[in-house]
Amino acid sequence: MRYQFKFRPYQRRFLRSLTTNHGKWDIREGIILHLTDESGKVGWGEIAPISWFGSETLEQALDFCRQLPGEITDEIIFSIPDELPACQFGFESAQEWRIEFFSMPHTQSFSALLPAGEVALNQWETLWQQGYRTFKWKIGVYAIADELEIFESLIHTLPAFTKLRLDANGGLSYEEANLWLWTCDNLKANGELAPEIEFIEQPLPVEQFQQMLELSMSYETAIALDESVATLGQLAACYQQGWRGIFVIKPGIVGSPSRLRKFCHQHQIDTVFSSVFETAIARLAALQLAAELSRNNRAIGFGIDHFFEQEDTWLQSLWNDL
Ligand code: MG
Repeated sequence: MRYQFKFRPYQRRFLRSLTTNHGKWDIREGIILHLTDESGKVGWGEIAPISWFGSETLEQALDFCRQLPGEITDEIIFSIPDELPACQFGFESAQEWRIEFFSMPHTQSFSALLPAGEVALNQWETLWQQGYRTFKWKIGVYAIADELEIFESLIHTLPAFTKLRLDANGGLSYEEANLWLWTCDNLKANGELAPEIEFIEQPLPVEQFQQMLELSMSYETAIALDESVATLGQLAACYQQGWRGIFVIKPGIVGSPSRLRKFCHQHQIDTVFSSVFETAIARLAALQLAAELSRNNRAIGFGIDHFFEQEDTWLQSLWNDL
């Protein structure tokens, strides 16, 4: 199949900057793709890289788009190099674009992202009222003593039947990771009527895989890998090295959707699908993948609408523009 190809870069400002162990993030930049096949059928795609997370840079993605001809083929789409995982996702999802038969999952099956630090204490309630029952809180941003104190307040204010995920973005030391896991295990052991700590996400930096593997076997509290499995190649490598804990999959940067499907079907891994702060275009494709490949009934990490202005208007103008 041949496709007429157009693309357009975009910028979106976060309502409040996103703070993680990687630093502050204020503007989301990406590229919207538009394909028209020979029958006139249109497909939309989105390249939303996060280079500090392991994908290509926006510049590299733009360079790739700029060197393509105005007409492209399936051969081109399915041979995008692995060094451009966000491009692989964007082009393949544009190629297989379909909006029929899709029903948006209920808010309860989304995990809502809480801001780091004590601001989380004032934010969960609004999100709870919106229907969220799973929350993710960023840790490894402030001093551990302060975060443990806030954590204590958080679990005593969150309703008992919520789930809480702690995301360190690789920002803990080995000792700190042990302390967090021990604290979470104790919470469970005490049988307190408290929220369930679903998992701790990426406690240590990517290089410390063996330590995370060891931690995953030493504590009850589950560990999810995120930065360690940013791309399909990394995901396969961690699996081969024995990781049987949770894998966080960010479809927007993991790479080729068709190869991801194959891997998940073959190995039946425990996955949590998660956003890369993409627009509605990549989100639709990512949610379709999540619905297809999620197991164990885990909430999907797409509860991030509260980080952006309503997107209808600017997306509409972008669509008209193309
Ligand atoms: Mg994470």
